[in-house]
Amino acid sequence: MNVKELMTNLEAKHPGEKEYLQAVHEVLESVEGIYNQHPEFEKAKIVERIVEPDRIITFRVAWVDDKGTVQTNLGYRVQFNSAIGPYKGGIRFHKAVNLSMLKFLGFEQTFKNALTTLPMGGGKGGSDFDPIGKTDAEVMRFCQAFMCELWQNIGPDTDVPAGDVGVGGREIGFMYGMYKKLAREYNTGVLTGKGQTWGGSKIRPEATGFGALYFVHHMLNKAGKDLKGLKVAVSGFGNVAWGAALKATELGAKVVAVSGPDGVCSIENGMSKVMIDYMLELRSSNNNVVAPMAEKFSGVKFTAGKKAWSVKCDLALPCAFQNELNGDDAKELLANGIWAVAEVSNMGCTPEAIKAFQDAKILFAPGKAVNAGGVATSGLEMTQNAAHISWPAEQVDAQLHQIMEDIHTACVTFGTEEDGHVNYVNGANIAGFMKVAQAMLEQGII
Ligand code: GLU
Repeated sequence: MNVKELMTNLEAKHPGEKEYLQAVHEVLESVEGIYNQHPEFEKAKIVERIVEPDRIITFRVAWVDDKGTVQTNLGYRVQFNSAIGPYKGGIRFHKAVNLSMLKFLGFEQTFKNALTTLPMGGGKGGSDFDPIGKTDAEVMRFCQAFMCELWQNIGPDTDVPAGDVGVGGREIGFMYGMYKKLAREYNTGVLTGKGQTWGGSKIRPEATGFGALYFVHHMLNKAGKDLKGLKVAVSGFGNVAWGAALKATELGAKVVAVSGPDGVCSIENGMSKVMIDYMLELRSSNNNVVAPMAEKFSGVKFTAGKKAWSVKCDLALPCAFQNELNGDDAKELLANGIWAVAEVSNMGCTPEAIKAFQDAKILFAPGKAVNAGGVATSGLEMTQNAAHISWPAEQVDAQLHQIMEDIHTACVTFGTEEDGHVNYVNGANIAGFMKVAQAMLEQGII
């Protein structure tokens, strides 16, 4: 493999798909060395095949808003890779959704899912539908219209969507309702992140954030440190940020910053449990702002237009969106003494930010390892659905913790450099890639 040549060809084929090209570039750079030691991969053109999705389904979603006006959105499902299991990955509703974004997410998902140790391929879907400011009834009508198009392409052994940015329990419920009506089957395994009275796994809502903190715990332990007393900055206030803030606090850290598109709330004494719970209220208000937290609680200071990365902390946890932490943010964090960063959002840091952290030799772990607990618990939900049983929370949590520990071990195995430093980016990319590549090789040219 020659990364430069491959990237030139890919850029010519997919001009302007910048998130997708960024994600591919990062993985190829990590795996180039080991790939070139495997002539059988080169012969089977594994890399040329692995960077292209198996197929992409695109459709129009027409629905009627509360004023009676017809709205038209675009819907997609990118079925990226099914070498190790049915396509699996979330659905994102956000006004900026486009094919490049979903291809990057589907590509990342393929390797993330391979890291979980569970048999899941990679997929991602979504729409440019903007949930901000929409009523429940509008969200329901949109979800129903979206599922009317998608339902024939998914199934428990075909493709299993779940939530992502803009899609939580409410949306999964509406989509499942329409799926069930169309398919005339009570097939809970078709979607994960369901309500817990009708097939959803215990701990699934917490899983991405909890899993991230279990990973961080092992990363810090390996470096001879721990979470107690650490100051943590978190971006976002959705499900993922909530779970991360909750577990960080339970493990003895102090969440001193939480941010949204409107600005940052700094909390000198760290978030209390009621403040953490309030994050979910902010999310469900559909307004996408954190400012009300400062009005509601004393000891919270809101600064408009600033990110969580402007607050002095030991550990940064980007939990919102891709490329939310850039080179300048990294410089500011480093100047303020940061010494660990774990991406909880997918591709939360720009390449410049990652380089700055790696050059500074601080601990840095990538999203596909850190946030894999969400999809791993979706995998556990699929298992429970297939067996028509429901496991207690303690059992799911214990399995989630074990999976995160195993992912950490895989990163260390594949990412330890000669000087003993662990390059978690390389470790995660190589471990995930090798598993998928080997499966593709064994399944022939398809
Ligand atoms: N959207 C989540 C992710 O990025 C979860 C996917 C799932 O549970 O299938 O991994």
